[in-house]
Amino acid sequence: MAHESNATLRICDDTGDGVVLEAEDASALWVLADAFEAATVSACPGCKCRVLAAVAVVDVLDRSRPHPSSGPLAELADEAPTLHLYVEDLAAECTHRRWLDPLAEEWADVVVGPPRRPVR
Ligand SMILES: [Zn+2]
Repeated sequence: MAHESNATLRICDDTGDGVVLEAEDASALWVLADAFEAATVSACPGCKCRVLAAVAVVDVLDRSRPHPSSGPLAELADEAPTLHLYVEDLAAECTHRRWLDPLAEEWADVVVGPPRRPVR
């Protein structure tokens, strides 16, 4: 797999399938979609990481001007096996410690994987 050094944003579904955006694309999309404000169910206060309602993502994309990733994203949202999509901010150096919502755990399960227990 190609090294995605420029990727700053990843939006994926429950299975980890998703769309990766590079710096310029990511900021353009963020502006066009108004930070997905209307679709956000829960967000980290320190970065762009958030949980989105898949149905609302389709609405937001429908209402905003087209972006090269609108198509793939709308498809992802349409076909999402669960209600939620997950945004990972790859550029942020954030530990998400202030994201104190039950959905932050759901996000971490999908994006980071299940917590590893220390081996003693
Ligand atoms: Zn964060």
